[in-house]
Amino acid sequence: MAVFDDLVGQDQAVAVLSRAAAAAGEAVRGGRGAGMTHAWLFTGPPGSGREDAARAFAAALLCPDGGCGHCDQCHQVFVGSHPDLESVRPEGLSYSVKQTRELILRAAGAPTQGRWRVILFEDADRATESAANALLKAIEEPPPRTVWLLCAPAPDDLMITIRSRCRVVNLTTPATEAVAHVLATRDSVPPDVARFAARAAQGHIGRARALALDEGVRRRREAVLSIPRSLTGVGECVSAAERLVKTAEEEAAAATAALNENETTELRKLYGEGSTGKGLNRGLVRGGAGALKELEDRQKSRATRIKRDSLDAALLELVSFYRDVLAMQFGASVELANDDLRFDLDQLAKAATPEETLRRIDAIMQCRERLAANVNPQMAVEAMMLSLRS
Ligand SMILES: [Zn+2]
Repeated sequence: MAVFDDLVGQDQAVAVLSRAAAAAGEAVRGGRGAGMTHAWLFTGPPGSGREDAARAFAAALLCPDGGCGHCDQCHQVFVGSHPDLESVRPEGLSYSVKQTRELILRAAGAPTQGRWRVILFEDADRATESAANALLKAIEEPPPRTVWLLCAPAPDDLMITIRSRCRVVNLTTPATEAVAHVLATRDSVPPDVARFAARAAQGHIGRARALALDEGVRRRREAVLSIPRSLTGVGECVSAAERLVKTAEEEAAAATAALNENETTELRKLYGEGSTGKGLNRGLVRGGAGALKELEDRQKSRATRIKRDSLDAALLELVSFYRDVLAMQFGASVELANDDLRFDLDQLAKAATPEETLRRIDAIMQCRERLAANVNPQMAVEAMMLSLRS
């Protein structure tokens, strides 16, 4: 089905999901919910598209044609406004038991459109123990039309009691070739740009597409990867830290603005703005203003998350750079993620020992951990820059 077309290099998962969606459609037509698996667990490394796969599956369940990709239902799933799809992320660093209990209550309602009620639970590995216990109870006795889609890096990240009640869909990192092929054929990206983007994104299709199509994204990548060669003194380290934090903030602001605008427009449409519309909320039917406020709150907490994620992505980019350096130092014949920067890589490979390169990678990983523990970004990144230099 069309909704699965974007899941590049995931043939096995797509086969499983298509069959399940077809069976679910049969169950709905027969007026039954029987036979449906009510809890699914999507696993795979970062960038493999766990959430994308779960969202595509949600569309396949909610679309009357099993996921055509162009009807209203499919469209609503993808912009996040479908009334029977609830997509949740942790409010802070983890899911609280309160957030989870509220969600479980909402999940228990009957589907408004008569098909399924789907809960897309992103980062399920970030549930606190008591939240996980509440979730377990909900999954053990699901209402007949409720389907839980949990996402986590690996099955081991969840309690075995939850894991054992889910059907696991494992996603893999698609090969560079597969990603490049999709960019070239579907997005009409010139082949050499497609290969560059696929390689630099290391199998992350969304990232690859952004790199291929958005000059701003390419510029930000260049800014990040110019850091290693700029660390000649303490002052340079401090200003590099400032630049990195700022670059991540810019990237986050761009991503947030695009998402927010779409959602707000959809929500306003849903509540009938424009029919009598004058003034900011005047045209919204009853409940519209409250929903808009709720959306804005959600968008605010998402902005915080995206900012954190952007900085983390920039750090992972630096890791990929030093990994390339290490590969050159060992003379390994592997594909370099940052092949376009071969000159810089070569300079660094010659100027350091493999041990030093490993120590630098460690310093970046440590910085990631400190950021995850809520250390002030500027401070954590500055400390990292200083270790990258010496
Ligand atoms: Zn559809």
